[in-house]
Amino acid sequence: MSEEDSRLGFETRAIHVGQRPDPRTGSVIPPIYATSTFAQDGVGGLREGGYEYSRTRNPTRTALEECLASLEGGRHAQAFPSGMAASDVAMRTMLRPGDHIVIPDDAYGGTFRLVDKVLSLWGIEHTPVHQADLAAVRAAVRPNTKVIWCETPTNPLLAVSDVSGLAAIAAEAGAKLVVDNTFATPYLQSPLGLGADVVLHSTTKYLGGHSDVVGGALITSDDELNDQFAFLRNAAGAVPGPFDAWLTLRGVKTLAVRMERHSDNAERVVEALLGHPRVQRVYYPGLLEHPGHEVAAKQMRRFGGMVSFTVAGGEQAAQNVTARTKLFILAESLGGVESLIEHPHKMTHASVAGSELEVPDNLVRLSVGIEDGTDLVQDLLQALS
Ligand SMILES: *Cc1c(COP(=O)(O)O)cnc(C)c1O
Repeated sequence: MSEEDSRLGFETRAIHVGQRPDPRTGSVIPPIYATSTFAQDGVGGLREGGYEYSRTRNPTRTALEECLASLEGGRHAQAFPSGMAASDVAMRTMLRPGDHIVIPDDAYGGTFRLVDKVLSLWGIEHTPVHQADLAAVRAAVRPNTKVIWCETPTNPLLAVSDVSGLAAIAAEAGAKLVVDNTFATPYLQSPLGLGADVVLHSTTKYLGGHSDVVGGALITSDDELNDQFAFLRNAAGAVPGPFDAWLTLRGVKTLAVRMERHSDNAERVVEALLGHPRVQRVYYPGLLEHPGHEVAAKQMRRFGGMVSFTVAGGEQAAQNVTARTKLFILAESLGGVESLIEHPHKMTHASVAGSELEVPDNLVRLSVGIEDGTDLVQDLLQALS
């Protein structure tokens, strides 16, 4: 990001950084460079931008990366074909056999699976910790801890951890702090500004925002780390195609207005669920009684569109609610304009059943979309009745 860009507001950067009109044709929108290779003017004579081969770099991807770096307040971004591909490159860059990583005790299921079932085969050790408790994180750090991996708010229990507190622990331990900022998005929370070394995104969720593309990203201001990410991405080949990059960039332009509306609607849904006789507990960082509320209020602009709640009557009662909504679609994933509902125990978090990351079996998770809030509340009330 240039000096000048960094002074622009978030909404302006989302629409303009990396996306100025094409100088040759005037195309207002960055073209989809559907090409695998680039002509050279003599051996090694690369043209403007230094493009050579699309696994290494592609102009549509560059447009997305410049924009994402700017939104997170970072110097660099690398785009990936999925959030998990980004996590894989981040972990394999920063961890070697014999190293140790601290992860949240309700980490995204796929993140836990990658650490527990894949990286463990290469001799990487992990400890799940309730990261809202900084003392517990400090206690979990070992001499071989190289990464503290944080999600805040977490999925699906929306626990909040103090990013600056974690950054201090990581710095003291000589470890890197990675924050998975998928739930909050850069509009609501800026982990790099709070001391994180790396921000990770599943751009599949709010950044893309329309449930039509899978992607991921790593953002950092650490030049050396970024070079290592770029090296492994190119060496191992985990790159998104230009159309995917373009779709994600189109979604990013409206991130700010969408996040405001997601937050408005989530607040209305929370209000309707609170005190409902069939609802036992509502998990939302915006609630004063949420254990992480104070920290969330300090590090987040608003509290986002994710809401979870437990239903009286156990697992079947929870599943019944997910079966009865008409607008909330029963599906995995989150962060799209449309509202989704799911049963984490049997769906998104099925892979952690029986582990220390297991979630309550009567939990329902909502990704509150940007439809008419009154319609969403009505839909939930009829499903609960
Ligand atoms: C979805 C998700 C991921 C994984 O991203 P994919 O794009 O599905 O590979 C990682 N972290 C969080 C918090 C997620 O919600």
